[in-house]
Amino acid sequence: MTSSKLKLAANKKTEAPAQLLYPRSHDYPFLIKRWRAIAKSIGLRMRPFAESGGYPVYYLESQSPQPSVPSIYLSGGIHGDEPASTEALLAWAANNRDLVRSLRVLIFPCLNPWGLMHNKRCNEDDIDLNRGYRENPPPIVQAQLAILQGLRFDLAINLHEDYDAQGVYLYEPVSSKPHWGEKIIEAMSSAIPVDPRRNIDGHKAKAGVIRRRVTMDMMPNWPEAIALHFHYAKRTFTFETASEYGIEDRVAAHVAGISAAIRLIE
Ligand SMILES: [Zn+2]
Repeated sequence: MTSSKLKLAANKKTEAPAQLLYPRSHDYPFLIKRWRAIAKSIGLRMRPFAESGGYPVYYLESQSPQPSVPSIYLSGGIHGDEPASTEALLAWAANNRDLVRSLRVLIFPCLNPWGLMHNKRCNEDDIDLNRGYRENPPPIVQAQLAILQGLRFDLAINLHEDYDAQGVYLYEPVSSKPHWGEKIIEAMSSAIPVDPRRNIDGHKAKAGVIRRRVTMDMMPNWPEAIALHFHYAKRTFTFETASEYGIEDRVAAHVAGISAAIRLIE
């Protein structure tokens, strides 16, 4: 029994019927409605910047931040079948309002609304947006890159999920030193155990950390993380949670990882 089920079972004893926390995690309009409320309470500017399968796509940013405060880039939902990514961004912001106010943030709460609504990795044109950051970017990625023009973040985190994963793991470029991966994965493991595999998705992994030498030519079509690494962020991480765990645990793992990474910024 997973810890989330145990929690639900425990609730049953003491309270009237246990409620699923995320029954509408594929409901994009509901996600945006909740973000609007959080944006208002924190003072984030929320703007549409593109359209995807009939849905407006949004970003959120700090209003008039101090130039000296840490700058953070966060994105989720580029793969629509990874709903803990979108829920975790929302949960992190909702649970850390004072911290969010004290940072310079740029948040893409869901880059693939059509995919989220239909529980699909790709977008409405069957394109994997996370392979579109170098040559011939799809319109939404083009619009996103226009927003990023000239920006440089202290930290960028892309949230993902993996059906094959056996726990949590992350990608960290080998050149980003000192490495933070072990500390972040330890924080994430408070919610879901670390993926024990030594080979994950064809990459060498150690205790849930995949540390790769990132080169311009390693992939013909760049994922978001490679574009961020080379052009927009001092440090870039990709977090992965195992889709077979309960969504409450997957959200908690992502939130713990984001918090740990931000604490590591000097
Ligand atoms: Zn993904």
